[in-house]
Amino acid sequence: MQIYKKVSDVRNYVILNKKEGKTIGFVPTMGCLHEGHLSLISMAKEQSDIIIVSIFVNPLQFGPGEDYGKYPRELENDIEKLKKIGVNALFHPDVNEMYGDNMTGTTYIEVPVISQKLCGAYRPGHFRGVATIVAKLLNCVPADKAYFGAKDWQQQLIIKKMVHDLNINMKIVACPIIRERDGLAMSSRNEYLAPEDRKTAARLYESLKAAANAYDKNITDVNEIKSIIENIIQKEPRKSDLKIQYLEICDPETLEAVDQLTRGVLIAMAVFIGEVRLIDNWIIGQNL
Ligand code: AMP
Repeated sequence: MQIYKKVSDVRNYVILNKKEGKTIGFVPTMGCLHEGHLSLISMAKEQSDIIIVSIFVNPLQFGPGEDYGKYPRELENDIEKLKKIGVNALFHPDVNEMYGDNMTGTTYIEVPVISQKLCGAYRPGHFRGVATIVAKLLNCVPADKAYFGAKDWQQQLIIKKMVHDLNINMKIVACPIIRERDGLAMSSRNEYLAPEDRKTAARLYESLKAAANAYDKNITDVNEIKSIIENIIQKEPRKSDLKIQYLEICDPETLEAVDQLTRGVLIAMAVFIGEVRLIDNWIIGQNL
């Protein structure tokens, strides 16, 4: 596996491969790779000749007081996983390579309206940081397709809109959420969970399952579904450690609230378990 730290090197690698008629799949990540990331890579492998993964913990998308400093970094492990699954190249730039010495003064990309909803309402500047780094990465790695997870539903939506609006010549592919055995959506941040919190974290999935069961019984009133979800997440005995930051039932494209559950509608939530913030979602009608 090639490892590139410089923009010019990874770009040349793409150009050379394209000249040879190869198709390129690109999977941007922040590392600490798990099965969720690997599923994106597997999907990319099915669809492209050459697979490039990036690992870059992007400071621009972390707010003050968020976990940029302690975000898990496991480069050696990650490299082993990438080699094992057959990735062709890793792009692993440092912060200076991506932003020079003036990150806060960088040109940025703001995707309007949908960036302000759900997570955006609680993490000001987060999606500006995400859109900016993804646009930069797609410029550095001008692949044919780039792969993102539906775990971060709002993120893939924002990226699709950005790519469309800026005429970036790349197809964005969204891949299904990969879960642990108990249903917890895989996330690098799950590493922060203490063992007893790890058990509690499965309540997010449990609550979405309960919503799915209620929907199967023709309960479609949004308030009723929300209370089913809230009751499961906040049930005793760990109620005090669990805080729902948001629970929204909305149109999956506009993220505008709806008042009836119908096929295709998005249920999205962010929940704090102690200090750890977890997100999850379900599109009604899809496998959960
Ligand atoms: P991250 O390293 O957290 O920035 O994630 C990199 C990519 O992997 C993003 O497109 C995420 O949506 C995706 N991803 C993270 N966790 C999962 C998961 N459990 N299932 C599917 N995709 C995921």
